[in-house]
Amino acid sequence: MYLRDDLLAAIEQAGLVGRGGAAFPVARKWRRIKDLQKPKKYVICNASEGEPDVSKDFFLLEHYPAEVFKGLILAMDFLQTKEGYFYINRNYYQVLQAKIDPLLKSCQERGYLINLFIEEPSYIGGETGALLNAIEGKKVQPRYKNPSPSVLGIFGTPVLLHNVETLYDVACVAIGKFDQTRLATISGEGLAKPDVYRVRNDQGVIDILRQTGNYPSFDFFVQVGGGAAGEVLTSKQAETATLSGSGSIKVFPKTTSPYTFLQKLFAFYDRESCGKCSPCRDGAWQLVQLLAGQSEQSELPWAKFSPIIKIMDKGSFCNLGKSIALPVRSYALNILGIKV
Ligand code: SF4
Repeated sequence: MYLRDDLLAAIEQAGLVGRGGAAFPVARKWRRIKDLQKPKKYVICNASEGEPDVSKDFFLLEHYPAEVFKGLILAMDFLQTKEGYFYINRNYYQVLQAKIDPLLKSCQERGYLINLFIEEPSYIGGETGALLNAIEGKKVQPRYKNPSPSVLGIFGTPVLLHNVETLYDVACVAIGKFDQTRLATISGEGLAKPDVYRVRNDQGVIDILRQTGNYPSFDFFVQVGGGAAGEVLTSKQAETATLSGSGSIKVFPKTTSPYTFLQKLFAFYDRESCGKCSPCRDGAWQLVQLLAGQSEQSELPWAKFSPIIKIMDKGSFCNLGKSIALPVRSYALNILGIKV
């Protein structure tokens, strides 16, 4: 086990990055908050995991909850704080309560107050600003990026916010067992063994499908890095692609119609938009309306989708609205040969 500053060096040396999707270097975040001369700081574990087709954090909390809490305590020790939050979506908590409650209690017995915050499941609820607002009892909507949560997080104090997998990785580094791997959630119709797997950071998507016994017996394409925001690739492009974002691989039969693919995607963005800004709120609604009159056999109105996607990409207040551009554009270009 490392001493405080040694752990920071070990995290830096391991090249640990946040696993919430943004891949921000963990050591840089720790150092920035540690250097702030503030009387109080919080560490928050984000177990919201609201993106479709991603369940790695659930997997960790189900199988390795003690390690996740260990990472949380290590981060608290590093910042010399005794108070933090465990922010979890209600669906997860209902299933995992028997594992989580004893760990919260044992932390408390050791002098660490980790407040349990149960959120109503949503994608936006896991977004940094929305999460901080939720804890403060405000509307669950994103905030301006400045000041950053590292400076002004909750109740006027700095916050170190990590997702579940990141804190698990911290615990692995602390005991010298971090091995440059990450978790991949594999899903899709017709796969032999869809599940969560540990894979190498640099492992190719197709190699992962083969190694896990999930290489499809049919022609397919994939969405990599999240069922909402992930990039869509042909099976050939996936040969050289590695995991990105929240680390998921979703397999689609090549026979999936554009209508079916987009219907789910547009419905997700429309449902999850928090309503704060017009580009996302109205854009997602318009996309759903444009698709409503179509069918599996329709020629879809790409010329009408295109300006809406552009406005959502450029004008949305937070990453939720912006993130629709990558899956739609990559799907259109890579699978259909259409530039959006
Ligand atoms: S982009 Fe969407 S989710 Fe984000 S603030 Fe605007 S309406 Fe809310």
